[in-house]
Order: sequence, then structure tokens, then C-alpha cells
Amino acid sequence: MLARPHAVAIAPVYSILASPLHLATVDVSSTADFDPRLAWQEEDLLMNSFGAFLKRKFGGRTQRVSIDAGFTCPNVDGAVAKGGCNFCDNRSFSPSRRVRLRQVSEQLQSGMTSVRERYDKVASFIAYFQPATNTYAPVEQLQEVFELAMSLDEQVVGLAIGTRPDCVPESVLSMIQRLAAETYVSLEYGMQTIHDEGLVWMNRAHSHADMVNAMDRSRGRGFECCAHVILGIPGESYEMMMQTAHEIGVLGFDAVKIHNLYAVKDTPLGQQVLDGEIEMMKRDDYVKTVVDFLERIPAEVVVERISGDAPRNFLIAPQWCREKSKLRIDIEAELRRRGTRQGSNFVPPAVRPEDRPVPDDLTPQAIRNQIETRGRLPVLKMQE
Ligand code: SF4
Repeated sequence: MLARPHAVAIAPVYSILASPLHLATVDVSSTADFDPRLAWQEEDLLMNSFGAFLKRKFGGRTQRVSIDAGFTCPNVDGAVAKGGCNFCDNRSFSPSRRVRLRQVSEQLQSGMTSVRERYDKVASFIAYFQPATNTYAPVEQLQEVFELAMSLDEQVVGLAIGTRPDCVPESVLSMIQRLAAETYVSLEYGMQTIHDEGLVWMNRAHSHADMVNAMDRSRGRGFECCAHVILGIPGESYEMMMQTAHEIGVLGFDAVKIHNLYAVKDTPLGQQVLDGEIEMMKRDDYVKTVVDFLERIPAEVVVERISGDAPRNFLIAPQWCREKSKLRIDIEAELRRRGTRQGSNFVPPAVRPEDRPVPDDLTPQAIRNQIETRGRLPVLKMQE
């Protein structure tokens, strides 16, 4: 049973308006407007874990199947920059690469088969468009490939779409909104940090203002918005990482994926690590920082990841991130030791996310042109 050292009410309880030094509680057993996003607090969990969220939502084990739909990235093809992010192995992305629709369906089918072989009972699957920027193609093609995934198997209950904050013009968001009326959709934004110095260091080729703009146009459209965050960026202090944590609540993200900075082979970052120019965060520091991060984000936010890693053959450093389960155990042990949980130190923003004004679309013209008028299409409908 989860210790609730600050709680005074009889269960079920959840925290409200907790300041860093004060965790208030309220009895919700009789309230008609109980927020189902807080159901995890009644399940003795320390955070709003993704696995439990999916189980609650879809009634059983739900697995993601990663799909490479052949898209490229405006940070690779020159629309906004070349070379890509310093941690990203993007050598295979190219405007000329072709993935047939049939290959997309084959990836999904074979991914589902592997998962079924591994686990006894799988209730459902989410088609996860993961590599590259999966909103960077003409809207009709994006819709075609997403609808294909949705219709392939009745066990496919949703989509997860990874993208950049500068790559979601209104036309794309409207299309995703239409899909979200029919199925579960999570739009995953590479926010990484709110600090532009860190974004420049990573060669992201977008600013945090782009992220703010994208979220203020994405919120409330019926799909979930997930922020990818990296902890341990060189030059970022503890306070800066906590400011990024606070921004999760400011912008109203529905979910977060927290990654430690890690380096893989054949990337600029990997080379810098091999040359001794960059040092990775120490494991103990990461555990404490993730716990501090979790304490500062809203309890309603689904925590989809608390660390990042790569296959043994590709990973350069840090090696400790390979032991994901142990890391999770230590992160939860630290929360238990402190007597806190996700959201314990959340400070609500001055303006509620839903009250933030919706700004004009700031998608760069070069990206908009590629999305609307691209001549060489990344996904082709083939005859076979
Ligand atoms: S934006 Fe994403 S896909 Fe593009 S280079 Fe960076 S990490 Fe890779």
C-alpha cells in the first residue's frame, strides 16, 4: 500500500493545488466529477504509468508496434536544416526513400505476430509511427497511411504519431482531429527541453516558441499530446530541468516520455562521447532528477517512459540505461523513501492550459510547402 504521509482524508484521495511544501487532499468518494485520469491514485501506484493507463482504457494488455512509413525529416532534408539532431541516427532518412503501403501493413502485421508470440494475452495494439517526422508529407498521404493502419486489424485500437513542433500546420492538425474522432490518437512532440541553448546544442533547428505554438494549437482537439523530454543535456542545470518539468503543466500535455540523454553509434553525439568531450549523467543523479521531475508534473499526465535506451550493439553510453527494470525499481524506491508521488510538488500555472489563447499557425513556409506541394512523395501507393 502506498504511504500517504501528507494525506489526512480517508481513501480515496487525490492531491489538489499542491505547493512544494504542502500537499492538500480531498475526499472524492462522493464527488460526481471524479477525474478518471486520477484513477491511478486508487491503485497504489506512484505515478500515472502508461501500462496501467492502457489497461484501464482498453481493458487489457496493449502493445505498441513501431512502423517506419518512409517519411523523412525537415531537419535532415534541408527544409529547416541538414544533418538532423545530434543524437539521431538519421542516415536512412532521405526524401527519395520509398515505403510501399503494403510494406506498412506488413510491418504492422509482423509486429503484432511477434507480440502475440511473446505474450499470452494481448488485448490490443497501437500503431506507432516512430522513426523520422511522421507529419511531414502531403496530408492526403498521411491520412491514407494512418487509415490503413487503423483498418488493418480490429485489435488495432489507436495510433501514436511522432513529430516535431514546427511540423504541424493547420491542415495536418485538422486531419488528425478527424481521425481522433474515430480512434485513440496520441501526437508525440519532440519538445526535449524548454531552453533554446539546449535545442541549439542538439541541432533541433526549432525553438521552444515553436513548441508553445504547436501545443496551443493542438490542445482540446480530441487527441492526446505527449512531450518527449531529455534530461542531462550538457549545460543544463538542475533548475533548468525543473523548469522543463513545470512547462508540462503550463502547456497542458496529456502525457510525457522522459529520457536520459544517451549516445548511439554513428551520430555526432556518439562521436563526442567517444572523444571524451561529453559526459553523460550519472545514474544516481538521474534517479533523483527523474523523481524531482515527476513530483513537479500534474498527476493527470500519463508517464509513458521514465528512461531511454538503445540496443546493446548501438549504445555507446551510458551503459546503466540498459537496465531499465532496475532503474524503474530505484526510481520508485526513491519516491517511496521520500513519501511522495507524481504531482506531489506540482504548482499550477497562473493561466490554465485551456484558457490559453490559440495563436496563429507559425509552421515555417519551407515545411508547409513540402507538406502541401511536395513533388517526390515519401509514401507511394504501389500496384502490387
Ligand atoms: S527531428 Fe526527430 S527525426 Fe528529425 S533528426 Fe531530430 S530526432 Fe531525428
